[in-house]
Amino acid sequence: MSWSARLVLVVNSGSSSLKFTVLPCDGGEALVSGLAERLGSPEARLVLKRNGDKTVVDVPDADHSVALYRIFAHLDGDGLLDRIGAVGHRVVHGGERFSESVRLDEAVIADIEAVSALAPLHNPANLVGIRACLAALPEVPQIAVFDTAFHQTMPPAAWAYAVPDAWRRDHGVRRYGFHGTSHRHVSAEAARVLGLPAEDHGLVVAHLGNGASATAILNGRSVDTTMGLTPLEGLVMGTRSGDIDVGVVTHVAAVTGKSLAEIETILNKESGLLGLSGLSNDCRTLEAAAAEGHAGAELALEVFVHRLARHIGGLATSLPRLDALVFTGGIGENSARIRAMTLARLRVFGFELDAEANAATFGGRLGRISRGAGPVALVVPTDEEGLIARDAVRLAGFSDGGDDALAAAQ
Ligand code: ADP
Repeated sequence: MSWSARLVLVVNSGSSSLKFTVLPCDGGEALVSGLAERLGSPEARLVLKRNGDKTVVDVPDADHSVALYRIFAHLDGDGLLDRIGAVGHRVVHGGERFSESVRLDEAVIADIEAVSALAPLHNPANLVGIRACLAALPEVPQIAVFDTAFHQTMPPAAWAYAVPDAWRRDHGVRRYGFHGTSHRHVSAEAARVLGLPAEDHGLVVAHLGNGASATAILNGRSVDTTMGLTPLEGLVMGTRSGDIDVGVVTHVAAVTGKSLAEIETILNKESGLLGLSGLSNDCRTLEAAAAEGHAGAELALEVFVHRLARHIGGLATSLPRLDALVFTGGIGENSARIRAMTLARLRVFGFELDAEANAATFGGRLGRISRGAGPVALVVPTDEEGLIARDAVRLAGFSDGGDDALAAAQ
């Protein structure tokens, strides 16, 4: 079989869910995608999407392995399983150990385990999916793609917390940054579309989804980002507070008697747009409510934009020049209102909004939303799965040399 007929499976394994997509190795649209959710509970179910059809299958009490087994049975039924030539796994935390994607073996798995203390909710869940896939497809090359890896190029001034150095040496306490696959893909696309010289350009990418982070990118390399040791730091997000004075944590613990773990959960799951508005974490709902005069929704959007603009301004100081601000993620790709509010707050940089282009850019469209001589504002749809797939194909070793290389890889 030629490598171009091969498929790549992208797996994103969470604590109680497992998302997957099957893509052609040489790019193009997904053939099948789906989600196994509520794993480990009686309500566990599998949702499969192919050719625009959605199938829902109950799989009571299925764990990750059982869910994968069921997914593979469906792929086999469609004649796709034998064509899978590589598997790409999303891994949340690579610590300082991983600065790029890597082929999985026992040593790599041990290293991912070793950094699990930094992401106790995510890395063990990623590893469950990895082990289940390795057991089910032992002959197929499997690749780990890390959310943190892209940010390993940050200089110490950007990654160090101003805390006792022993915290970093002994416990890995430093800023790592996340959403690396999205920032990497979107910045490369922006540089390509704008025709910027590879070794002479500066970008800020704002990935605004349910989770949100912004990154300063100099000549294709991350030089500063808003997320830190964990994804909690930085921008206001759907349910995360973003930056917060640690004094708030100790004060709330003292006056409410809540534990640190409880407060951390509230800051991650009940704060952000949801906490501010008292209504929803969903930007669409808040925009509609604000238009109806809901004060909490209005405040939530204002704080979101204030924090975002402040961070973009700060990130720009890591660049010799700001060529472009790039919006991506569900909010960045779709919300003309948030983009317009943000550019209005960044007038010090000389942005000039093209209101017509801004209103017309949504639903996966790529386009410039600024005009005039100032820096460019651009919308670039993110494609984390596509980038994981491309890394997996490249590291599986058969993308460059065609059939000969594939034969050698097998
Ligand atoms: P995740 O981080 O879960 O992948 P997404 O990137 O899908 O999230 O982004 C989800 C966010 O995008 C939600 O807040 C949603 O309201 C917002 N969003 C999607 N479409 C629109 C739209 N048309 N206008 C405003 N916000 C939108």
